[in-house]
Amino acid sequence: MPIEEVDTIVVGAGQAGLAMSEHLSAAGIAHVVLERHRIAERWRTARWDSLVANGPAWHDRFPGMEFPGHRDSFPSKEVVADYFVSYAEMIAAPVRCGVDVTSVCRLEGRAGFRVETSAGIFEVNNVVAATGPFQIPLIPDAIPKDARVTQIHSNDYRNPAQLPDGGVLVVGAGSSGGQIADELLRAGRAVYLSVGPHERPPRSYRGYDFCWWLGVLGKWDIETKTRGTEHVTISVSGARGGYTVDFRRLAEEGMMLVGSTKSYSDGKVTFANDLRENVAMGDQSLISLLDEADDYVKRTGLELPEEPEARIMPPDPECLTDPLRELDLRAAGVNTVIWATGYSSDYSWLKVDVFDPAGKPRHQRGVSREPGIFFLGLPWQSRRGSAFIWGVWHDAKYLADRISTQRRYRDYHNERAGEIDRGKAAAAPRTSNPAIAE
Ligand SMILES: Cc1cc2nc3c(=O)[nH]c(=O)nc-3n(C[C@H](O)[C@H](O)[C@H](O)COP(=O)(O)OP(=O)(O)OC[C@H]3O[C@@H](n4cnc5c(N)ncnc54)[C@H](O)[C@@H]3O)c2cc1C
Repeated sequence: MPIEEVDTIVVGAGQAGLAMSEHLSAAGIAHVVLERHRIAERWRTARWDSLVANGPAWHDRFPGMEFPGHRDSFPSKEVVADYFVSYAEMIAAPVRCGVDVTSVCRLEGRAGFRVETSAGIFEVNNVVAATGPFQIPLIPDAIPKDARVTQIHSNDYRNPAQLPDGGVLVVGAGSSGGQIADELLRAGRAVYLSVGPHERPPRSYRGYDFCWWLGVLGKWDIETKTRGTEHVTISVSGARGGYTVDFRRLAEEGMMLVGSTKSYSDGKVTFANDLRENVAMGDQSLISLLDEADDYVKRTGLELPEEPEARIMPPDPECLTDPLRELDLRAAGVNTVIWATGYSSDYSWLKVDVFDPAGKPRHQRGVSREPGIFFLGLPWQSRRGSAFIWGVWHDAKYLADRISTQRRYRDYHNERAGEIDRGKAAAAPRTSNPAIAE
């Protein structure tokens, strides 16, 4: 099989792969983007039907192109996917769809990598793994698979009609769990929402979206999570034009809040006694952002309308003052459990020593310790915004710069090696018979 040579292979054509392609092209680096499905596939087929972007159109985008529609609207998942397809066309990204990368390993005795794919073999100087921060749906081992209840991950949830009749236990109250639980409640389902540690910013405050506030307060650029908040998720929603997630209000509307899901036995699910603590943590995060926003307004003299009502919490519902610790699924008519519990990664194709014992990439801002292997789109790759649409674009720029710098070192070496070869050729004894010289 012929081997194709190219400087850089980018694996994955989601937003990360496209951002990488844009910056590599700008740096004049020959590359190919390999995607096993279609451009932005996960936005099309790994999200629920009604999903809209969590950030407004003006914010959750690449600098070079705007979304159609109003800048403050929340684009649907299809619009987001179409946006990336158009973006790929605009930048003439060299994407090859339907190509699965099955193996990347070091070349023997020389720099570079052999990349095996479903469409042939490449030899390259660099590989950028842009395969996404959310690859393998993670379901904790709490309820046995053979328990008499349907269990799915939020990755496979599409709409209420897809689920068996009856009540639903949604585990996880980040943006996915909170939005899915809300949709199910509106569809008339009995919903139990298992609320873990979370932050919940106001959707907007004093007339500006929380994305704007996190930006001006420098919070998207925070480089590492605060100690102790590693497992804290953020609960926001752009659904129905966007609203502040408030678990007390959902309880007022009929949702049953419960603590973190702990275990299962004999048809009963047990919950930790942490609901009040978790809800209080969410409240605290909201109030502290409002405080910082108020300070910012005072300091900068911005004229923004005051919004004292943003601080008013509805009264605690009974499920919060006297939390349920055990749920008999059958007695409660709960036939489905939706696990909105996050994802893990699959880098089994990347056969290079760049992972820690837990299988997580070892890297610094996406640069691994193996020269030529890069990661892009990881949560907190360089900052809080790294896994989001706008954030990955900036991380890609950094990686392209690193790749380009390495190329300059290689070019320097090649030039010198060329000079030495030319010198050797000049010094070699000449023959008068050109046929022998050939
Ligand atoms: C429910 C949900 C909602 C989100 N909402 C927002 C939002 O509103 N705003 C925002 O900024 N971010 C949002 N995010 C976060 C982030 O923007 C998305 O997860 C986004 O899809 C990440 O883009 P990516 O390019 O890094 O990865 P992905 O979109 O996952 O793309 C990776 C691509 O790599 C391909 N691939 C993987 N392995 C291989 C292989 N071996 N060979 C070839 N191809 C391969 C996959 O097919 C895939 O197309 C959301 C995430 C989730 C889960």
